[in-house]
Amino acid sequence: MPSSPLDNIIHELGGPDAVAELTGRKGRLVRDEEGRTVYKRRNVDLGCSMERINLAEKQAFMDGRKLVAIISEAASSGISLQADRRVPNTRKRLHITLELPWSADQCIQQCGRTHRSNQIHGPEYQLFMTACGGERRFASTVAKRLQQLGAITKGDRRAADASDLSMFDVDTKWGKKAYDELIELLSNPLFSSTRPPPPYVRRALGLKANDELHARWKEYLDDAEEAVASVGINTDDKGSVKGFLNRLLGMCVKMQNKVFDHFMAILEEKVRVAKQNGEFDDGVVDIRGESVKVAANFPREMKKDPISGVPLLHFKLDVDRGLSFKRAMEMLDEKAKSNETGKLYPREGFYVSKRPLIGREKEGANGVKALAFLIQRPMSAFAVPSTYIHTYGIHRPNTGLGATDSFESFTEGITPRFSKLTPEAAKDKWEALYRDGLRMCSHGPNCKHGSRCTVGKRVQQQHLICGAVIPFWAVIKEHLEYQKKGGRDGSLQMVKVMRIVRVRCVGADGREQRLVGVEISDKGVAKLDAALNNQPAPQDVKPDVKPDLHQLGRGGASSSSSHGGGASSSDVKPDVRGLRVGAHVKVHGLATDAGKKLNGKSGKIERWDAAMQPSGRWIVRINGQQGTNALQAKNLGAL
Ligand SMILES: [Zn+2]
Repeated sequence: MPSSPLDNIIHELGGPDAVAELTGRKGRLVRDEEGRTVYKRRNVDLGCSMERINLAEKQAFMDGRKLVAIISEAASSGISLQADRRVPNTRKRLHITLELPWSADQCIQQCGRTHRSNQIHGPEYQLFMTACGGERRFASTVAKRLQQLGAITKGDRRAADASDLSMFDVDTKWGKKAYDELIELLSNPLFSSTRPPPPYVRRALGLKANDELHARWKEYLDDAEEAVASVGINTDDKGSVKGFLNRLLGMCVKMQNKVFDHFMAILEEKVRVAKQNGEFDDGVVDIRGESVKVAANFPREMKKDPISGVPLLHFKLDVDRGLSFKRAMEMLDEKAKSNETGKLYPREGFYVSKRPLIGREKEGANGVKALAFLIQRPMSAFAVPSTYIHTYGIHRPNTGLGATDSFESFTEGITPRFSKLTPEAAKDKWEALYRDGLRMCSHGPNCKHGSRCTVGKRVQQQHLICGAVIPFWAVIKEHLEYQKKGGRDGSLQMVKVMRIVRVRCVGADGREQRLVGVEISDKGVAKLDAALNNQPAPQDVKPDVKPDLHQLGRGGASSSSSHGGGASSSDVKPDVRGLRVGAHVKVHGLATDAGKKLNGKSGKIERWDAAMQPSGRWIVRINGQQGTNALQAKNLGAL
């Protein structure tokens, strides 16, 4: 009989003297002095009763007598193994999950075994999974929960180069879109095969763009359709991503991986396009920079929330993206140490461009050339190593970390663009570009746009609004959420641009501070200033809930207009038809059944709600009726 994996693991880790076992087992197979495998009851060596054995093992671990603990689901409830400051063993815990539980909640609970209050440091988790497509389902749900719990956020410094958990997350609205597209394709292989697969799908499926492409693509589609049907995925009624991943487990491993890779390729493309269009919600994003300072005379108060007295603050930040040569070397050294080989991978390191920078061709003998260093990005957790194309973070002296790209497209392109450089050869040139970045744009001292040009300048201004964001949310959202952007086809579209960011920066007093707020462009600042000064009062986030809040809100309106300097009620939403706060009005022209009852009735305008669509509404109290109605200007006549 083969020995149990658990016994093998214990043996490999040094036997029962080194390993605390917290399971429901009564005994185990151990090797005696002569190397024979013998059965031993677990309580014999510990000298305690069977009931207390897990507690004794836990104590041995917490005392530091045993440095490895193996804990099973059966024994895990109520046992804590964190690096508690009250016990001798305060080493940092490395928590390895050998088998992902079926539910994220369960996983969170397991993770909680080593992550509790009063600990000196948090544990490091390693979640193991097989490379089978279906098993990623669990990783996906687990990642989602961990993220909700704030275990990690996008752009978190610690997470930036480690495996970013968000790449496990496929059960999202983009996942659903990708899944729908996949099922659409597979539901009619005959038709689908008439259109060649896009490059990202070809790459994922390992299809080469040659004479055989059509045949191979059709073959895959046929096989995949059959596999999908065989596990009961209904191509007519598109279900959820979760259901799909669950069913995927039923396919043979090879097909499972192919279909999953296909799905991931579509998903990644969808996310890429969404990011480009500003539709992708990144969650809270960190502003990155080597140094971030609050500009002089900031923060500035934009407006005060009349209810709480908390100001809405505008921060201007000077974000220096530049990387000194010293910093570049530090980053490369750090990377070398973290590599398995202990040194940089062959393609990592400094590069110089073959052509000079545009605008700087005439400086010196050969012009000023661009420099960069590359650091290989961690492989995606879903990657198949043999076919994986590595990507590299491209760092520049003036702008820091820029795009991530494959090595081929970085160095080659149409004409060879970059060649490798030793650190010694890079040093002086790097430092010169680093210094230049402070004073001039990438186009050099003679840029035809003059000092206005900001391309490639090290320090960039970013604006943030913080403080009483919630009370002013309606106004902020109305003016900043969308921005007109020209599409490739020359059309104008409204694109979602608002982002919540956080940043660690140095204030005017030299002290470090952390800010969380809404990112805003300099045009946005002007727009918001204008809007705030033309609005009556900031609207409550939930209007019409508490009448007494409205009362307070109106009080704020009058105080802020007097603050504006001699402003009268005319700075309340100007309207040629005499519509203003306090005006008596008559309702007309409403077409809905509920609305028709109001036609002909009169009432008084209470306030203007800019957040209501389309383009704001008047909140009117109709005489003799409970509550208020939100009405458009076209349905109101001043009396
Ligand atoms: Zn320029």
